[in-house]
Amino acid sequence: MATVAELPGTSFAPMTARPFRVVRRRRETSDTWTLELEPVAGPPLDVGPGQFTMLYAFGIGEVPISVSGEAGGPLIHTVRAVGAVSRAICAARPGTVLGVRGPFGNTWPVAAASGSDVVIVAGGIGLAPLRPAVYHLLAHRESYGEVAVLYGSRTPRDLLYTRELERWRGRFDLQVDVTVDRALEGWRGKVGVVPKLIAGARFDADAAVALVCGPEIMMRFAGEALLEHGVPAKRIHVSMERDMKCGLGYCGHCQLGTTLICRDGPVYRWDEIRPLMEVREL
Ligand SMILES: Cc1cc2nc3c(=O)[nH]c(=O)nc-3n(C[C@H](O)[C@H](O)[C@H](O)COP(=O)(O)OP(=O)(O)OC[C@H]3O[C@@H](n4cnc5c(N)ncnc54)[C@H](O)[C@@H]3O)c2cc1C
Repeated sequence: MATVAELPGTSFAPMTARPFRVVRRRRETSDTWTLELEPVAGPPLDVGPGQFTMLYAFGIGEVPISVSGEAGGPLIHTVRAVGAVSRAICAARPGTVLGVRGPFGNTWPVAAASGSDVVIVAGGIGLAPLRPAVYHLLAHRESYGEVAVLYGSRTPRDLLYTRELERWRGRFDLQVDVTVDRALEGWRGKVGVVPKLIAGARFDADAAVALVCGPEIMMRFAGEALLEHGVPAKRIHVSMERDMKCGLGYCGHCQLGTTLICRDGPVYRWDEIRPLMEVREL
């Protein structure tokens, strides 16, 4: 009798972590680090904007982390240390080997948004999964109308990619607006929640595509604000987070109603996901 591995179309590979070495590590904020990883052997990963990998700190555990680098470039992840596994990943110095499975999940609809205005709304660490989408839009700038990046964090100290934000701000073909919930001494920028920035952005609401990522409460308010502004529900996309284990739709950990976030998401249309947003964990 054939073993499972020998059955046509069956492979254990998606469940096997590939070793990747940390080649660079950069501190973004007091609790957040960006790691650049290269495969110890074999080809690089082919990753689309919005996808994630399962990142394994050997002997500690494995967690889903979005790709925050450019498609076609090195594998880059930005990780906030919130628990045992994410702390171990953030502490991985250059030379450390981590396990990587994936990439998993769908992508931001950047190709389908071609010809439209694009509004990106990010809260906190939510800018990490959206950064590859921004890179895509900038690399194909002539294919899009207005592009706005609206970003909010708790305090100025929690802002990610500050140097890059400054560079983006210096461009004439990109609107960048930043706000913080709470100002600290020396902050001269905006104070308030990120959905408030939507009204000040320049875009054609009827025909724009919105990409939203951040804490769920922020996504709810941002979604409502975009709707009020006239963006159709079908053109608003959010990236969902739930506990995940396999990343492949087998284990059911990330089930939300009738959907499995690792398999069908993490990116969903607002009209599909809004009714399920109240569900915490099944
Ligand atoms: C598709 C997907 C993509 C993700 N992308 C990223 C990413 O790019 N960068 C990143 O840093 N994280 C990302 N996350 C979240 C990340 O997977 C979790 O932070 C991680 O699983 C926490 O595991 P842990 O063992 O370190 O902490 P745990 O022991 O699981 O949690 C420790 C404490 O932190 C809380 N906690 C757990 N997750 C979060 C969270 N997301 N925010 C705030 N508090 C939390 C828990 O409730 C608990 O109190 C993503 C999650 C998903 C599903």
